[in-house]
Amino acid sequence: MRIVDIREKTVPIQADMSNAFINFSKMTVSVLALVTDEVRDGRPVVGYGFNSNGRYAQGGLLRERIIPRVLEAPAETLIGPHGDLDPELIWAAGMQNEKPGGHGDRGVAMGVLDMASWDLAAKLAGLPLNQLLSERARDPRTPAGPAEKVWVYAAGGYYYPGRGIEALQAEMLSYVDMGYRTVKMKIGGAPLADDLRRIEAVLAVLPDGCDLAVDANGRFDLERALAYADALSAYPLHWYEEAGDPLDFEELRALAERYPGPLATGENLMSFQEARNLVRYGGLRPDRDILQMDPALSYGLTEFRRIVAMLFDSGWNPDRCVPHGGHQFNLSIASAFHLHGCESYPGIFEPFGGFADGYPVEDGYVRLPDAPGIGLELKASLAPVLADVLA
Ligand code: MG
Repeated sequence: MRIVDIREKTVPIQADMSNAFINFSKMTVSVLALVTDEVRDGRPVVGYGFNSNGRYAQGGLLRERIIPRVLEAPAETLIGPHGDLDPELIWAAGMQNEKPGGHGDRGVAMGVLDMASWDLAAKLAGLPLNQLLSERARDPRTPAGPAEKVWVYAAGGYYYPGRGIEALQAEMLSYVDMGYRTVKMKIGGAPLADDLRRIEAVLAVLPDGCDLAVDANGRFDLERALAYADALSAYPLHWYEEAGDPLDFEELRALAERYPGPLATGENLMSFQEARNLVRYGGLRPDRDILQMDPALSYGLTEFRRIVAMLFDSGWNPDRCVPHGGHQFNLSIASAFHLHGCESYPGIFEPFGGFADGYPVEDGYVRLPDAPGIGLELKASLAPVLADVLA
């Protein structure tokens, strides 16, 4: 068994919306296909991967460095103890001759390769990914067997040109109608007083049993982060996300000392080392705060396994993790590792965002399909995009 071809393609996911930091009108995604000579049901087995929204496509890194290394690796060096192509060995091949440090876009590119490797491994094993991970990749401190359903929350509430508060309220209520019980909106793209009006307007229409999280996307310096913290303390928010720069652990520490409610951050940490620095120096509180590291943006699940072990070793339970990303790969990981939950973007970042067709959100939770692999082909809007990478 060997990898015979690796294809990649840049696909747009443009949307004319903004958070406090970026506009998504020129956003792109890398889609990658690992093609093997293994034939099942008359067709070669192919593993697919892509990166989460928010970081751009990584075609250059993939084409010039990472893909050639995997294709040049002797076939037998990629076969693991289970007799199949092994994601850990594919990862090691892709990372040959890379110095430590310098994370960022390389972590995104490797995350794309890693997602495809795990999709492939699960298909070769004939298992849904969450089952495969639970059997082969689980930390011994993680409960046995994958979780049958995963808590998800609806991340939206972006700033759109010319859009008012009524439209924001309607958007949030549409998520409740879809089955979500926690919704999230952006802050920091407007003055504090305007954001407080937006928050109060959403809280005023949310039904009992539902709540609201807010996300500043790293926009605030310390002074503004604390001003928001003091104002936000008046509301029963699910969490206050990414107030300051993702690597400003001193600001985060000061914020954690001041803000009594849950804080959330981590989606813009691109490596194990950055996640460990967050835990070491960010002042976060293991009894309430939320870690949002996104495997698909930070060297993949292969790296995330090390993060899970580090969290256990540091006195954290990985059930404080709610990965950014809103797609089926992170959902499978959340199930296998019994994480607290997974982000979701109903109706945006399509077709990469969202879960398998026919698995609706019910009372804040979503179930996972039992088809082999991640289940990406079970999403009708995504399947043709994947097929197009091979065309
Ligand atoms: Mg965020």
